Amino acid sequence: MISGKTAVFGIFGYPVEHTFSPAMHNAAFAKTRFDGCYVPFAVHPGNLGDAVRSLLPLGIRGVNITVPHKERVIPFLDELAEDARLIGAVNTIVVEGGRLIGHNTDGRGFLRSLREETGFRPKGKGILLIGTGGAARAISFTLALAGAGSLLLHDIDAGKAEKLACDVRERTGVRATAVNAEDLRTEAPDADVLINATPLGMKRGDPLPCSRDLVRKGHLACDLIYNPPATRFLKVARSRGAETLSGIGMLLYQGVIAFELWTGKKAPVSIMKKALAKQMGRG
Ligand code: NAP
Repeated sequence: MISGKTAVFGIFGYPVEHTFSPAMHNAAFAKTRFDGCYVPFAVHPGNLGDAVRSLLPLGIRGVNITVPHKERVIPFLDELAEDARLIGAVNTIVVEGGRLIGHNTDGRGFLRSLREETGFRPKGKGILLIGTGGAARAISFTLALAGAGSLLLHDIDAGKAEKLACDVRERTGVRATAVNAEDLRTEAPDADVLINATPLGMKRGDPLPCSRDLVRKGHLACDLIYNPPATRFLKVARSRGAETLSGIGMLLYQGVIAFELWTGKKAPVSIMKKALAKQMGRG
């Protein structure tokens, strides 16, 4: 029941109609008996500043920020948490003491999904990321700070991979190297984890993010895509004997961490997971 005391949360994106986050957070509020509700807001890029400035006067307690606003929202905030500052993007705003604080829970969400769902510990491990956009930035810094041994970064835009490699080396001291398509062939077999951080696999008929023979038994193959839950990359990886992890866990745990930042309560993970699965089944 929404009352005059209900705390309002939400998500700013454009478009936003396909978001799974309201199902996950509203289920969590109900389970924990937290008097809150979570609503989607379709915020046109031209209205982002006005939308963010409206949070305080409307008494909204926090929002998630999604495509295409994660980087552009930064100038409208009062403060950035360490994760958002390092990554250079925000996916969660917490309203605290009249101030807007930007966090980024994507990288930590991925790390928690790795740990919870596969038991994998990144310390000393070799990580290969294909695609070096926003999601890869979040994951690269988080894995580097969690003790990853080395990061190999590949992107069709070589300059983007080079920039991320340079930022990770400078800010974390971890060995991060941009690799071209040829190096990918020689380096991939030695990596422990292969991560698809490109959108390839979202649409039927998309090519694989890398050649199938680069994936071997002993690899952990991760796809950040959560819809479909089992991409062609993951199916091929499984058929080649690799362990696999879909992007659903990252989506779940970035939400779990946001819920905990907003409410100070422990998130009901299994309820959020169920709500997500149910909503995806409907989609
Ligand atoms: P993004 O910023 O567009 O980054 C994707 C990067 O991959 C771009 O640099 C793109 O280059 C590059 N790329 C495209 N095709 C490539 C190829 N064949 N080989 C190498 N690089 C290629 O997107 P993002 O926001 O980082 O998202 C990436 C994926 O993660 C999406 O599928 C998204 O849905 C998913 N994601 C999942 C979660 C989750 O919670 N599970 C959260 C965030 C994102 P160009 O820009 O030149 O095309």
